[in-house]
Amino acid sequence: MKKFKVGILGATGMVGQNYIHLLENHPWFDVVYLAASSNSAGINYADAVKGRWQMNSPIPENIKNVMVEDVADIEKAKKKCNFVFSAFEIPNKEMVRTIEAKYAEADLPVVSNASANRHTNDVPMIIPEINPEHLEIINQQKKNRKWNKGFIVVKPNCSLQSYLTPIFALNKAGYPVKKIFITTLQAVSGAGYPGVPSLDMIDNVVPYIGGEEEKTEEEPLKILGSIKNGKFVQTKDIQISAHCTRVPVTNGHLACVNILFKDKKPTKEEIIKIWRKFKGLPQKLKLPFAPFCPIIYKEEENRPQPKKDRDNDKGMAVTVGHLRKCNIFDYKFVALSHNTIRGAAVGGILNAELLVKKGYIK
Ligand code: NAP
Repeated sequence: MKKFKVGILGATGMVGQNYIHLLENHPWFDVVYLAASSNSAGINYADAVKGRWQMNSPIPENIKNVMVEDVADIEKAKKKCNFVFSAFEIPNKEMVRTIEAKYAEADLPVVSNASANRHTNDVPMIIPEINPEHLEIINQQKKNRKWNKGFIVVKPNCSLQSYLTPIFALNKAGYPVKKIFITTLQAVSGAGYPGVPSLDMIDNVVPYIGGEEEKTEEEPLKILGSIKNGKFVQTKDIQISAHCTRVPVTNGHLACVNILFKDKKPTKEEIIKIWRKFKGLPQKLKLPFAPFCPIIYKEEENRPQPKKDRDNDKGMAVTVGHLRKCNIFDYKFVALSHNTIRGAAVGGILNAELLVKKGYIK
């Protein structure tokens, strides 16, 4: 198979670096184009990330000398790429929407990590194991915007997959969940680089992450929702209340979750069996980055733990544990996923693999 030529927008950031590191030997994708802010544009990649390369292995040889371009220079990207991963951060969401739309208009599919388009009515927000059928809105999106080959697909917030995948597995097995109470303990890498100042973080927990509780409560409603008359309709079947906290952990977002079922209540053994058996479309299609088991249940009472479990199955599996009865709701459990792998770069890569397999990226 001839490899797709791929661009990374925001290549110098935390998520961009993960893309570069994780795509190094990808069987389908070749990174050929890097872009970031105008501060990094015009210099080679190794110099642009000097002193802030955060990966555990060196910058790939073929990337070191690639000249970083400006994200605003869409014509250059068009000449070199088949599609782009978007991982740039601009506080003005309207600007992000405008830039991503310009890439799509220029015939470049955009697989985005940014939050700006997550609630755009014709943009699918995909966790490939949960709602791959939402990709069908792409044809409507292209029609609405008069785009030819380009389109935008986004992935959700980095903490979502840890608890939504196990809840979806229960819904799918015939045990719909109607109320969820979540407390997340989120790693510092989720704030990008340099992120939260060390004096705020060492020996501390910060009980506020701007916008995060809203994302935790709102985004699942679209993902579990449906498409009606060419638009997304949020599900009304589930209610979520969330506390989001920042903790001094490098990688891995943990979530303490309490759930109340709509009617039928499975036993603890049934829940564990459902989680262990759960597979989605990425597993069926054997996508290169699909975890073998999307949900791993750990029997030990003191698991999952970020340090010990975040890298399970290439950092792509959700690890759950400590399932027990709840005195107020039905059950409570702890869930973990790697925020910069499953929750960011490889979440995006898995979306792109699905888009290729489904024929949307050609
Ligand atoms: P980051 O480490 O702060 O990196 C930001 C990137 O955006 C850098 O490449 C930066 O380039 C570029 N940038 C900054 N200002 C720009 C501008 N005006 N025009 C174009 N590019 C600009 O952030 P991050 O953590 O990688 O996050 C990137 C995106 O992914 C964000 O939208 C974030 O919400 C999302 N996300 C992050 C995570 C996570 O766990 N970190 C998870 C899911 C989603 P320079 O180096 O040149 O400044």
